[in-house]
Amino acid sequence: MIYLDYAATTPLLPEVLEAMHRAATRFFANASALHTPGHLAMNEIESARTLLAELVGADPSEIIFTSGATESNNTILRTFAGCRIETSPLEHHSIIELKNSLAGTKLPKLYSFMLANNETGDLLDLSTITQKAQSLPAPKTSPLFDPVSDWGKPLVTDRRGAYLHSDLTQALGKIPLDVKRLNLDYATFSAHKIGGPVGVGALYVKKGVPFQPLLVGGNQEGKRRGGTYNTVGIIGFGAALEKLQREQSWRIYDTRIRALRDSLAKRILSDVPGSSLNTDLEKGKSLPNILNASFKAAEGESIQLYLDAEGIVVSTGSACASGDIKPSHVLMAKTGDAEIAHSSIRFSFGLNNTEKDIEKVMSVLPSIIDRLQKISTIEIKEK
Ligand code: PMP
Repeated sequence: MIYLDYAATTPLLPEVLEAMHRAATRFFANASALHTPGHLAMNEIESARTLLAELVGADPSEIIFTSGATESNNTILRTFAGCRIETSPLEHHSIIELKNSLAGTKLPKLYSFMLANNETGDLLDLSTITQKAQSLPAPKTSPLFDPVSDWGKPLVTDRRGAYLHSDLTQALGKIPLDVKRLNLDYATFSAHKIGGPVGVGALYVKKGVPFQPLLVGGNQEGKRRGGTYNTVGIIGFGAALEKLQREQSWRIYDTRIRALRDSLAKRILSDVPGSSLNTDLEKGKSLPNILNASFKAAEGESIQLYLDAEGIVVSTGSACASGDIKPSHVLMAKTGDAEIAHSSIRFSFGLNNTEKDIEKVMSVLPSIIDRLQKISTIEIKEK
C-alpha cells in the first residue's frame, strides 16, 4: 500500500506503540490518585506536557490535555459563547459548525484562524489578525471577565478586547512553531497527525486569558478538563513528540518531503491533461507535505476509488467530510468553483514516503484520469 493520506491520520510510530504497550502494563493506575502507581503515571503525563510545551514555546502549566483537536477547538469556542467570534471560511468543521450556533454580539471578540489548512496545506499569515486583535479596546464589563476560581481570585487577568486562537493541528511537526512568537492566546493540537494515537490532543491556554472548561466534574488539569486521565494515550502522544523533537522533523519535511511533494505536483501538471493545483507551492505559503490538485471532468471520489484499487491511498478534500456529497467548503471558499472542488484530490505525505511512491502514482494516475474524462460529459480543452 502507498499511503498518501497522512493529513487524515497517521500510522502509530513504532516508538509510540512500544511506549503505549509499556504504559498499559506499568502506568495503568489512575494518575490523579495519591498512591505510588498514581504518582508514577502522573510523572509520565507531566513529561509529555513538558515536551509539548518546549516544542511550541509554552509553559507546561499552559498545556491542557484533551481528547483531540475537535475537543480543543470546541472548548475555546464555547468559552466565547455569546461573544463575537470571527473565523475564516476555511476552518475545520469543529470550528465552523459550532461558531454558527454560538453567534453572539458581546466583546471580547475571539478570532479563530488556523495556521495551516488541512485540505490544501495553505499557510495563513496570522500577523494581520494579531494586529486587528490588539487594536480592539477592552470592554468595561463582560461575563468572561468575572469568573472567579475556587480560591476567590479572578480567572481572567489579561483583559482585552480580543483574543486569538489558532488550530495548529496540521502544522505541528511540519514547521517550527512558537505560540509566543505567533502571539496566540490559545492553540489546538492533536496526537494522531504526528504518529501518536487517535483520541488524544492538547490545548495551549495562555496564562491569564478567559477560559471555561468544556468537561466539568473532576479536578484534573487544574479543574480545566474533567475526566480520568488517558494516561496510555498521553504517553503515546509524548513518545511521538519526543521523536519529533529529537529528529527535528520539520527540517526533514522542509527538505526531503517538500521535494517529493513538489516533484509530484510538477509531474501531475506536465503529464495529466486538465490538471491544476489548489495548493500554493511557494515556500512559506503552504505546509511542505500537502498537495491538493484538481482534475477537470474527473470526479474526486472516482479518482480516489480507482487509486485505491491500485493500492494508493489518498483523500478527496477532508476525510472528515467524506460521505458528504457537498463540495469541500475549503475549496469552494478558495476557488469559488464547484467543479474544481468536486474534482479534487489531496495527497498528503509522511516521513515514510519515497520517490518510488511518486513513480507508482504517476504510473497509474494519467490513465485513471483519462478514463474518467472520456466518460464525462464535461468538455476538456486539452482532450
Ligand atoms: N482540526 C484540523 C485542522 C484537523 O485536520 C483535524 C483532523 N481532521 C481536526 C481539527 C480534528 O482532529 P481530531 O481528530 O483530533 O479531533
